[in-house]
Amino acid sequence: MTKFVFVTGGVCSGLGKGITASSIAMLLKAKGYKVFMQKFDPYMNVDPGTMSPIQHGEVFVTADGCETDLDLGHYERFIDEELNYTSNITNGKIYLSVIEKERVGDFLGSTIQIVPHISNEIKNKIYEAGTSSNADIVITEIGGTVGDIESAVMLESLRQIRLELGKLNTLFVHTTLVPYLFGSNELKTKPTQNSIIELRRLGIQPDIIVTRAPIDLGKSVKEKIALFGSIPIENIIEAKDVINIYQIPINFHNQKIEDIILNQFNLTTKRSDLTKWSNLINKVENLKNDVEIALVGKYVELEDAYLSVKEALKAAGYEYNTRVKIKWINSEELEQKNIDLKTIFKNCKGILVPGGFGARGIEGKINACNYARINKIPYFGICLGMQIAVIEYARNVCKLEDAYSKEFNELCKNPIIDLMANQKAIINKGGTLRLGNYKCNIKKDSLAYKIYKSEEILERHRHRYEFNNEYKELLANNGMIFSGINPESNLVEIIELTNHPYFIGCQFHPEFKSRPTKPHPLFLSFIKACINKKD
Ligand code: GLN
Repeated sequence: MTKFVFVTGGVCSGLGKGITASSIAMLLKAKGYKVFMQKFDPYMNVDPGTMSPIQHGEVFVTADGCETDLDLGHYERFIDEELNYTSNITNGKIYLSVIEKERVGDFLGSTIQIVPHISNEIKNKIYEAGTSSNADIVITEIGGTVGDIESAVMLESLRQIRLELGKLNTLFVHTTLVPYLFGSNELKTKPTQNSIIELRRLGIQPDIIVTRAPIDLGKSVKEKIALFGSIPIENIIEAKDVINIYQIPINFHNQKIEDIILNQFNLTTKRSDLTKWSNLINKVENLKNDVEIALVGKYVELEDAYLSVKEALKAAGYEYNTRVKIKWINSEELEQKNIDLKTIFKNCKGILVPGGFGARGIEGKINACNYARINKIPYFGICLGMQIAVIEYARNVCKLEDAYSKEFNELCKNPIIDLMANQKAIINKGGTLRLGNYKCNIKKDSLAYKIYKSEEILERHRHRYEFNNEYKELLANNGMIFSGINPESNLVEIIELTNHPYFIGCQFHPEFKSRPTKPHPLFLSFIKACINKKD
């Protein structure tokens, strides 16, 4: 029977609830248990796919094509397991499903209510995560903060699950803030106390309290929280601020959080194997070199909009003992007349153009790509970044001056990037992109083959537009190599150039498969090329 760990948050958002949940899952996995993770988001969007990355941060895509919250990226990176559509549930998804059931007559005769109809739907999603993953332990994070109107019914559902399954099969972790007051030089427990009271008002008594604080709590503060929280003092786990987030699981492990959980579940606890993780921390803390990479995008005011790309770059750097410094460049700034690209990219050893949507800033990205191609600076184009590379090449090498994407101009004369045939009839924006895993065959003797060392790969996608195969011959005749092709649809997946130290573009998003302990080969080869670039 699957056991459930529920992670809630109190006091305020941004306490690192996602990292807490991921760390717990990672530690339970290290104890030999099969784990699965899930996040409930209290907003009304069915998924984050239609939200602006500037509001919400990156949209993380699972292998089965679910557009999810960026916390799922943390989950996958920490536990190194592929998650799926049962892993991210929003209020929108829950309400939509209940209302659809009501319309077809599933509840004929009844009045549809938040409790029990919405709460049952939520419970089903939690139980489904257990049955479909066949995990020993499912870790479910509830987004938002206790006391929010939006998440109240989610917490009500958790209360019911505790009633149904008992303490032996469910465990509540509540994360809170313990602020430090400079003037009086003390930590304050009142916000934590209040947030526990708020949780109890909803019928939930936490089993573990994770306290975020800038300094060690000390015995008396811990005793106070334990007393007011009605939990043993050992069940207070300190989440002291750290510079390196990978340190958190180790800090939790030193406080025996896994043992507390496994004891409550009456599961045996073994010695855990954390060597891989300790090696990672060792690497991260002893980096000897630096390399600067330019990331040219239009959402750069929020680094979280490119979270997985950032993490994948950093992870690749660790392998080469190098700290990757990202220079965030707003692509719109590269569109100004008389712009001095040489000064802007002065210290950059590589240029990366990540995914994106819409026409704003496109010419700036094309300028950046052109600069990288001509000046032999390593270039890595991801999704939109590959489309940019193709447009730039068509315009400036093949002399197809009006080459463009139909996404930016419906009437463009040379739509070298065009809508996929099966996308033409689609009207709805939500959940209709080309999403998730698709196969790609790799041409032998190409850079891509050297990187992947395989003729067939599987990568995750999130896009609506494609390279238009009508232009393939023209570009190939002018030197562009189409080294990755989807075997079923013949769509272009990877492009590259030979007369260049490193120039590659992929239609998929390799960043979603990168792990801190297992960097993605494309990021590894890109970083290697950047490190090797002469000044
Ligand atoms: N906007 C482009 C498309 O829809 C690229 C998408 C992306 O970069 N994720 O095809």
